[in-house]
Amino acid sequence: MLLLNTIKDITSWRKDKGQIAFIPTMGNLHDGHLQLIREAQKTCNQIVVSIFVNPIQFGENEDFSTYPRTLDEDAKKLANLGVSAIFAPHINDMYPRPQTLFITPAPIEHELCGKTRPGHFKGVLTVVNKLFNMVKPDIAYFGKKDYQQLFIIKDMVAQLNMPIEIIGVETQRAEDGLALSSRNGYLSKEERTQAPQLQQALKYIKQAVKQGNKEYDHLVTTAIQQLNSQGWQVDYIEIRNANTLLTATMQDTKLVVLAAAYLGKTRLIDNIEINVAH
Ligand code: AMP
Repeated sequence: MLLLNTIKDITSWRKDKGQIAFIPTMGNLHDGHLQLIREAQKTCNQIVVSIFVNPIQFGENEDFSTYPRTLDEDAKKLANLGVSAIFAPHINDMYPRPQTLFITPAPIEHELCGKTRPGHFKGVLTVVNKLFNMVKPDIAYFGKKDYQQLFIIKDMVAQLNMPIEIIGVETQRAEDGLALSSRNGYLSKEERTQAPQLQQALKYIKQAVKQGNKEYDHLVTTAIQQLNSQGWQVDYIEIRNANTLLTATMQDTKLVVLAAAYLGKTRLIDNIEINVAH
């Protein structure tokens, strides 16, 4: 497994390779990231994993400076997974001049996580676009844990006719149901014990909807109240059409419930898909 740090290196390495699968990450790898790699192994012999903490997707009061940077441990985790190369570009290579040109995401960027994190998805799309230009992958893997991100990336690839297949991979969870995330490391011991409540709230909504409950607003309000009473500060819980991410209607059969909530200072996100039988 190679460690490539410059655009020059990845460009010359890329030249004589055929099909390439690509997994962009911000590092501090956990089993969720590794699952993307396992999926990639099914389709490609050449797998590139990028590790880059992208400053322009963090808001001013967010955790860019404290985000865990663990390249040596990450490399160890990737060593036995058939990864051909880690691409860990230097910040000056990624941003050789002040960034004035950005990719504008679909309008959904202003909703859900975009309400609390203005400019976040613009930063994500701009860096993913840069990485795609450098790695030139044929296929790229993203987690469904970041459901809105996956949607916005698929939309970019379609709208800009990028010849890249985007695959969404199921969320990997701890045994108690908490979605794996690099930010789980911020939780205190007590908060970590409490953290699965977020998924439980989504499961509660799913179960009710599956049983025919169509009072979506009421279900969401109940779930938010429950979490808030348990000490969370819910940012949002919303039921959306899983294909369009528009607000769910009674007629929709594929739904997704998306949530973001603070436990102490840590902002956690999660989601759950629901197939509704009419
Ligand atoms: P990040 O390093 O947080 O930017 O995540 C890199 C990629 O890993 C993104 O496509 C995420 O959606 C994906 N990912 C993060 N956590 C999980 C998880 N628990 N299960 C599946 N994919 C994940």
